[in-house]
This record gives sequence, structure tokens and C-alpha cells, in this order.
Amino acid sequence: MSEILKVKSLSKVYGSKTNALTVLKDINFSVLKGESVAIIGPSGSGKTTLLDRVTEGEIILSHISLNELNEDELAQVRNQNIGFVFQNFQLIPTLTALENVQVPLELRGVKNTMEPSIALLERVGLGARKNHYPSQLSGGEQQRVAIARAFSNNPEILFADEPTGNLDEETGKSIEALLFEINKEKGTTLIIVTHDLELAQKTHQIIKIKGGTIIH
Ligand code: ADP
Ligand code: MG
Repeated sequence: MSEILKVKSLSKVYGSKTNALTVLKDINFSVLKGESVAIIGPSGSGKTTLLDRVTEGEIILSHISLNELNEDELAQVRNQNIGFVFQNFQLIPTLTALENVQVPLELRGVKNTMEPSIALLERVGLGARKNHYPSQLSGGEQQRVAIARAFSNNPEILFADEPTGNLDEETGKSIEALLFEINKEKGTTLIIVTHDLELAQKTHQIIKIKGGTIIH
């Protein structure tokens, strides 16, 4: 299997000289295409920061060094190659479920966004709720919409940052199962940030972060 993501000597410092806070220090890891990876570690250990802009080091995604891209190019890579699912869903409140799923496709200039978006909503079990707004959906349903949206571009990599963190246990389990299922169907590489050790055991690779570094 080929390498899809390589992180080299990554560091992140928040703030400037007088109040500098080093959150990540010399992080190195790589991920194979189609692999699932869990990033685990205590709250505040730097897991979310890992998905953020870095201060030092290099991130290579599908053989493209992200360091060499300008803001526009980076936004394009994000929109075309990466899907994101967040703890707090981050749906656009003024758009329906269907419209939320259509957004990334429209940003890409796809002509017919309706059919593939409906198919995705059906895949996550929400075909009947496509015209509802986020406020009319439960947390688990909102997360299903977010998952449909994340997969709409057929991303090579899906990042899920504590995707079940705001859900009750049962709903969380079904969201988790859905992520793994679609991941497998589509051959997406899945990087999941989680507190849940049971979930982490189901992935190919576990990366443990503590105090800003990887521990083994
Ligand atoms: P985790 O996702 O593992 O809970 P985070 O990556 O969110 O942890 O945060 C790691 C550390 O970085 C925390 O101490 C947090 O307070 C700090 N941090 C996160 N974002 C910022 C920011 N924008 N400015 C300053 N410090 C931040
Ligand atoms: Mg976090």
C-alpha cells in the first residue's frame, strides 16, 4: 500500500515570543492509503491542533507538500481531497440537510449536485429528512448530515475530530459504525480523533499524543 499522508517534524506554537505556548513538538507519523488511524490522548494534549496549520515541519498529502501551497491552493486541496467531521457538526443553520451536502460540490463547480447529494443522504439513512434544517434534526441526525457532506467530494482522507463527542453512547456507536462502513465502501483513509479506546482498537494504527508529543 502506498503512503497517503506523511507528517515530518511537525511543531505548533501558539502566540508569540512573550506568551509562546508550544502545543506540539516534533511529531512524525505516516498513514497508508485506505488505512484507519486513531489519534488518542487526554483533553488539551494537542489532537485538534494536529489538524490545524502548523508552525514548523512538513505535511505531505498524496505526494504534495502542503508547505509549498499558498492559501488558495491549500483551500482547494482541502475542498477536493479532504473531508472533515467535527464534534459539533458545523452544519450551516440556514441551509437544509440537502443544501448542506450540496455545498462542497457546488464549491467545486459540479453541475448536478442534487442527485449525488440525495443518494448520500439516503446512504446515511436521512432520505426522508432532506428538506429539514439542522435545528429540526437531533444531534445524531445532524452528524449523519455532516458525514454525508464530508463524503460528497469522495475525499481521499476523512478527518473526524471526536465525531461522537456530543452524542449519547448509543447514537455515538451508530455514527461510529457508519463512519467505518462508508470508509470501507469508498476506500477512504480515515483519521479519527477520539477519547474512546474501544473505538481506537478498531483502527489499523493508534497514535497516542501526550504533552504535545507522540508516546509509544
Ligand atoms: P485536544 O484537541 O487534544 O483536546 P487542542 O489541540 O485543542 O487539544 O489544544 C491543545 C492546547 O493548545 C491546549 O492547551 C489549548 O488550550 C491550546 N490551544 C488550542 N487552540 C489555541 C489557540 N488558538 N491559541 C492558544 N492556545 C490554543
Ligand atoms: Mg480536540
